[in-house]
Amino acid sequence: MTTSDVIWAHSGDSHFMEPPGFWSRILPKPLADRMPRSEKDPDSDFETVYVDGQTFRRKLPRVAVKKTEDGKTMMDLESAAPGTGNVDLRLLDLDNEGIWAEVMYPSLGLWENMITDRDLVRAACRAENEYRKEALQDRAPDRFVPAAAIPMLDIQDAVEALGYAADLGLHVAALPTGVSEGMPDYNRDDWEPLWATAEECGMVLGFHIGTDGLGAKDNVMFNGPGGAVLNYVGTTYGGQWVAMKLVTSGALERHPDLKILISEGGATWVPFIGDRMNEGYRQHSMWVRPMLSHLPKETLYRQVYTSFQHDETAPAALWAMGYQNVMWGSDYPHIEGTYGHTQKTLHGLFDDLDPGVSHRIRIGAFKELFPHITGPPES
Ligand code: MN
Repeated sequence: MTTSDVIWAHSGDSHFMEPPGFWSRILPKPLADRMPRSEKDPDSDFETVYVDGQTFRRKLPRVAVKKTEDGKTMMDLESAAPGTGNVDLRLLDLDNEGIWAEVMYPSLGLWENMITDRDLVRAACRAENEYRKEALQDRAPDRFVPAAAIPMLDIQDAVEALGYAADLGLHVAALPTGVSEGMPDYNRDDWEPLWATAEECGMVLGFHIGTDGLGAKDNVMFNGPGGAVLNYVGTTYGGQWVAMKLVTSGALERHPDLKILISEGGATWVPFIGDRMNEGYRQHSMWVRPMLSHLPKETLYRQVYTSFQHDETAPAALWAMGYQNVMWGSDYPHIEGTYGHTQKTLHGLFDDLDPGVSHRIRIGAFKELFPHITGPPES
């Protein structure tokens, strides 16, 4: 492939693997010891994840497992994608793949929402956000858009952490698709201060699918025939519920400058959900509260952005169904993502599309969320 054949895209969904010893580098040892860590079984493809006294086991993807010389089974993400936890190698990976800027979600940090100690999670989020600003964003401010961690066990804690992350200069905050046990659901007005603060600070709220809460921590809902595919698709729905809650409760309408990103969950669900909400709003109006100034689908289309990796129908949400906020995402370095075949995927998706549609999905929608990004050079 010659340089002129490279098709560039921004990614609305990527992950950074915290380096070894991450927590003890950023937190006092007694706190670091309670943060998420995983240990691989010596004799199977399972790992055990430890989070502040809780544990769960999960099967590792086969491609990401290797045997060491002494016969131990190890996760092998680094050889699959060298920049998984190394910023210099990551920039090389991004250049090779044709990815310019990327929203970076955590990896181990995704399990933080299992922690039930409010002080611990507050301290961890603060230290993580300082790390992400200095070690990631400042290293490549036009490429890396790391997401802030937000403590979700108390709304005032969340508000303060989001404000601090904005003061640090971060541009997006990662929120789980499901609230913590005992917390009000996202359609409740209790969260109003968080929505108001995010709007005021210009922070995008990024909801990565598969973060529905404790019960879904290993994302296994179904066993038996078809279970793997059922469970995979099942991780998608939490993102759809969040978008619907923020639309139907009026939260997004009250904060017209607030933008949310649902990462990794595809895009064609947006027109579908929009139609369903409009029908419910219109035909069941006698039960609907609050009444809204705009139909649900209008607000959904205006303020909700979505990223997809491979979905061949996703661009049609834009050109055939009028939903403008479709974004591509690599899901680097995960096996659901496009690492190693990004250019093939991008060419397959976009070569035959109208250039304006292609540009909007690869570049334009991302830049609307993150206007500080100037690259890629030719766009
Ligand atoms: Mn992802």
